[in-house]
Amino acid sequence: MDKKIVLKEMTDNFYSVHDMEAAKKLDAFLPGKIFDAHMHISDRPFYTKDILKFSDYYNDSAPLMGNREIVCNGIATPYTELRDKNERQKLTDFLVNELNMYPQNVGEIHVRPDDTEEDIEAQIIQHPGIRGLKCYHLLADRTDTFNAGIEEYLPEAAWEVANKHALAITLHMVRPKALADDDNRSYIKEMSKRYPNATLILAHAARSFAAWTAIEYVGELTGCENVWFDFSGICESTGMVAILNKVGVSRCMWGSDWNVSMSAGKAISIGGTFYWITANDIKNFNSKTDFHTYLVGTENLMATREACILTNQNEDAVEDLFYNNAARLFKR
Ligand SMILES: [Zn+2]
Repeated sequence: MDKKIVLKEMTDNFYSVHDMEAAKKLDAFLPGKIFDAHMHISDRPFYTKDILKFSDYYNDSAPLMGNREIVCNGIATPYTELRDKNERQKLTDFLVNELNMYPQNVGEIHVRPDDTEEDIEAQIIQHPGIRGLKCYHLLADRTDTFNAGIEEYLPEAAWEVANKHALAITLHMVRPKALADDDNRSYIKEMSKRYPNATLILAHAARSFAAWTAIEYVGELTGCENVWFDFSGICESTGMVAILNKVGVSRCMWGSDWNVSMSAGKAISIGGTFYWITANDIKNFNSKTDFHTYLVGTENLMATREACILTNQNEDAVEDLFYNNAARLFKR
């Protein structure tokens, strides 16, 4: 990259000196232009902020990313209130307003389980930058939504519309075993085949917070050309290594998962499951040796870098992962 990258001085108390040490390593690794394929836009509180706007994102990203040009896919953030169509419209209005202010960016509207094709089309026509659909288990009609099957929160109408307009669908799978769950896997294979013009993005490296779920099963998706992966939120390299090895870099994209990225902590594989180490957990950690943590966003970027090192990705492949693939998918 010819352009000189300037890392911004630490401007708030989120980033520690350890994050800033990591930023130097990342600076030597990251390309000059970034496409963040998974960050959140919201009209109401989520994690560290009351609302989530592109301008806040750019401020928060600057200490790690320097003055790199960043294009975003702003994902409408899920809430149970979105079961109400009017609440969903408010969120879409907010997203449209953000896209008007940042026309280089794209966005994904939220779909509801009982949406018809007409409902979804009426949402996507509200801005030309709307290039995808987001679904989430919280809207499934049951109390234990973490056990919902994909069809309970992603209506087939979404596939119809995505197929017709060549849109992406971002899916954060649930159920304890994620991709290792037979129903999840057969749904993905069947629907991606039935709707070849839609692109299914398996968020969080096929939600492989428990890395073995991707390592053991992602090979079954090698031939599903319209199934892609975003690497957002994942803090360990192993699941990403499996995806890069079995599927290849061309269907993989980096994403920050902002503003989840702004909390201290890390998602780790443990036993056959995973655990989110939070700032509260860290307060109770004792260590006889030198110990520090990063923000989730720093952990994710360092793990992504590690996955690229371990799978020998060259500079062009890293550019594909961090920019070109998403630009191609979202038509930017
Ligand atoms: Zn997310």
